Amino acid sequence: MAVRVVVVGSANTDMVAFAPKLPAPGETVLGTRFEMASGGKGANQAVACARLGAETWFVGRVGNDWFGDTLLRNLQGAGVNTEFVIHDAEAPSGVALIFVDAEGQNEIVVVAGANGRVRPSDVDAATDAFARANALLVQLEIPLETVGYALATAAQHGALVVLNPAPARPVPEEWFGLVDVWVPNEREAEGLTGIAVTDLESAERAAKALLDRGAKSVVITLGANGALLVTPEIIRHFPAFPVQAIDATAAGDAFAAALTVRLAEGAPLDEAVRFANAAGALACTKVGAQPSMPTRHEVENFLQSPPSP
Ligand code: ADP
Repeated sequence: MAVRVVVVGSANTDMVAFAPKLPAPGETVLGTRFEMASGGKGANQAVACARLGAETWFVGRVGNDWFGDTLLRNLQGAGVNTEFVIHDAEAPSGVALIFVDAEGQNEIVVVAGANGRVRPSDVDAATDAFARANALLVQLEIPLETVGYALATAAQHGALVVLNPAPARPVPEEWFGLVDVWVPNEREAEGLTGIAVTDLESAERAAKALLDRGAKSVVITLGANGALLVTPEIIRHFPAFPVQAIDATAAGDAFAAALTVRLAEGAPLDEAVRFANAAGALACTKVGAQPSMPTRHEVENFLQSPPSP
């Protein structure tokens, strides 16, 4: 039977306008291309969990608007249960407005909208899902008060608690007692510890600093250098699988989701990290966020005959 995962987090629409140059204040420039895609770390990770075979609930908020309806349709299309998503009557759906110039430089305005209004009471409203969940997966694109409440609720119900502390923000110390697995990338690990993560040695120091504060296990994702697993008993580097990486967008989302699903299934940490490393690599071989999240079948096939360096 499929394991059950609850993801509490953000859902966003990215709108990207490409132009020869970025507009100066007051200036209008003519764009050359426009793209729109569903994103938000919470929604991306929920889609990834569902594709990887978990029965998945997404808990979050969207506005009463076209964007919200589209975000929900995408989640449902991937097989995510959206029963506990709230349509906020007062805030619009979250959006990111992105301008990109000919050199690839960008300018981004993120409006959290309904994501900024995900409340602890939304977690309570989803008690049925929390009570049945094998694991909770959360990120930091919603109010920290709600993240903390979700961590405590899942821990109370005996679910495995995985935190992808992204984007980098300071977090309350009491979270160290609630989270089973911390999954930061290099910048987030630095934000949490003040240790600049530039290589394996500094990654290990940062992970150990988190263990010193009470973390039970830490997996730092290192982009093209793979991932580092550190617990009080294990220190193990997993080099990245050699793939033709064309777009690393949401590779971290695929990784966090895959790690959570395998751990929820009862796999040991090192096996789950290997599985997540494969999911992250596969996400880099396709363009976009949600469309690049790999399926269970794709990850298992890949792991049966991984590319050699
Ligand atoms: P984020 O997207 O949060 O910045 P990372 O860049 O650390 O996260 O990537 C997450 C995971 O995706 C890595 O740990 C690795 O498993 C995989 N990955 C990222 N970049 C590559 C790459 N160039 N080749 C293979 N795997 C990659």
